Amino acid sequence: MTTLVLGGAGYIGSHMVDLLLQEQRDVVVVDNLLTGHRKAVPAGVPFYEVDIRDKDAMRQIFRDEKIDQVVHFAASSIVPESMKDPLKYFDNNTAGMIALLEVMLEFNVKQIVFSSTAATYGTPEESPISETTPQNPINPYGESKLQMEHIMKWADEAYGLKWVALRYFNVAGAKADGSIGEDHPVETHLVPIILQTALGEREKIMMFGDDYNTPDGFNVRDYVHVMDLVKAHILALDYLAEGKASNQFNLGSANGYSVKQMVEAARQATGQAIPAEIGPRRAGDPDSLVAASDKARSILNWQPEYESVEEIIKTAWTWHQKHPKGYEDR
Ligand code: UDP
Repeated sequence: MTTLVLGGAGYIGSHMVDLLLQEQRDVVVVDNLLTGHRKAVPAGVPFYEVDIRDKDAMRQIFRDEKIDQVVHFAASSIVPESMKDPLKYFDNNTAGMIALLEVMLEFNVKQIVFSSTAATYGTPEESPISETTPQNPINPYGESKLQMEHIMKWADEAYGLKWVALRYFNVAGAKADGSIGEDHPVETHLVPIILQTALGEREKIMMFGDDYNTPDGFNVRDYVHVMDLVKAHILALDYLAEGKASNQFNLGSANGYSVKQMVEAARQATGQAIPAEIGPRRAGDPDSLVAASDKARSILNWQPEYESVEEIIKTAWTWHQKHPKGYEDR
């Protein structure tokens, strides 16, 4: 079986490639390198610097490589950026999905595991959030991912495309040896920003809003380790290979931590002071996003290994200490 990993040079995609290789599976990587890093993918892996919207280039890859299954990480994923530039999200994400499925179907490749998001739930009507909680996104990022789920659903009805949508909560951490990790051109995510502050690369962390409807007023997210997350993708690929029906699963830990608790946990994990200040709310942020993840555990048999945010932060800390400037240091 050959797995095509789209966005395989990005943060989550590179961990997926690593795990597929550990499992001795054949891997082909596509990444347009707008936010990914060539150095995040081992030299021996077939690598194409291609944008998934470039259908001719994608056709050539499907012609040259014998692809059985696709894992799709190649999308834009920054909530605040999507509020400022929604059309970028509908183009790269939604239109990207249409172009991809057209090419996949031309080559009769009909199994895809897709990175969806808790942002599709918007301000959820219930907590913890289950897969049947209504999806009403409150930012263009979440909207684009919901559109992508719907496109796959109708492509299943019409053409028999089989898909698994994995709705990620907040992904953090790095491979335990710190050889690959999180490195975005413009960092907006909480854990790397906290750890860059711990390293002295930033002066302080700004905690966005202390007046949310949560126990301590700071907004609450559910953090899942990137290696646990990619493990669920392998299980989802195997689920599809067994001929099972299209499905969707939340991937989270079922534990919520506030921004303030995360800063505190990082102080514990790193032994650093980590100066923090309270700032205004960030546009597009719901109060609390916590997953019910029993469906992935029972149907995919997913068993996350990392149980506390301290453990998750420690692995990210190893990466940041080894690569204070990210992949530039390699
Ligand atoms: N956050 C923060 N300061 C930062 C970056 C993020 O307070 O510098 C908060 C943000 O408001 C959210 C949480 O941290 O509540 C996680 O944000 P992130 O951007 O990491 O992920 P998202 O939930 O947007 O996918």
